[in-house]
Amino acid sequence: MNQRMGKHLVDFHCHLDLYPDFENVILECERDQIYTLTVTTTPKAWPRNRALTANMRFVRAGLGLHPQLVAERSLEISLWEEYFSEAKYIGEVGLDAGPQYFRSLGLQTEVFTKVLRACNEQGGKVLTVHSFRAAKQVLDLIEANLAADRAFVVLHWFTGTKSEARRALELGCYFSINAEMIRSERHRELVGFLPADRILTETDGPFTRRGGRPSRPSDVAATVQELSALRKATPEALAETILGNLRRVVFEI
Ligand code: MN
Repeated sequence: MNQRMGKHLVDFHCHLDLYPDFENVILECERDQIYTLTVTTTPKAWPRNRALTANMRFVRAGLGLHPQLVAERSLEISLWEEYFSEAKYIGEVGLDAGPQYFRSLGLQTEVFTKVLRACNEQGGKVLTVHSFRAAKQVLDLIEANLAADRAFVVLHWFTGTKSEARRALELGCYFSINAEMIRSERHRELVGFLPADRILTETDGPFTRRGGRPSRPSDVAATVQELSALRKATPEALAETILGNLRRVVFEI
């Protein structure tokens, strides 16, 4: 599959440390030559993620504090700050205003603001950002706290409106697209509308499934196929575009 699409594929947001075979799935990404960003949900997971990915060519780890965990773990922002200077990739971070997490939105806002200000101060970071039911608030915080030339922001599984997407584009944001977004009628339209030079692919595995099992990074091959049909490009051309976008976001590949 990868061979037919030519170059390397990209999974810019997944949680490899939540798989029972964490170490094995990293090696699978290396074998299949899939550029993979594995995010963490708590900074406590950072040392092991960092150690296991340090010598990898295709896999990088992100330092995160997931908005859905902030209600119980907001104090871990100090640990996140301790590790911050050694991380280039930041995530999963952001806001979640869904019914289960709405009550911690104030705390989430405090934490995410700290994250954005730290990135603005240090520069050179790449963020993968969660914005479920909070696209406007996320964009407001980015606009107020993080200058466009200080970081690359990738909005993961973005489900905001078209006008919110337009605003995100104006702020310089990229979008990582997964198979669930392509399956959803409403989000298909958004995915078709985004400019080619701002899109990446992701699985968000293991939180998405394919063929009755949790997605794995190699499943982005199918996502590129589905996305290419939707966007009326060949899978080969789309894979090449996505790889070019990755190069722009990440200087080191
Ligand atoms: Mn995620």
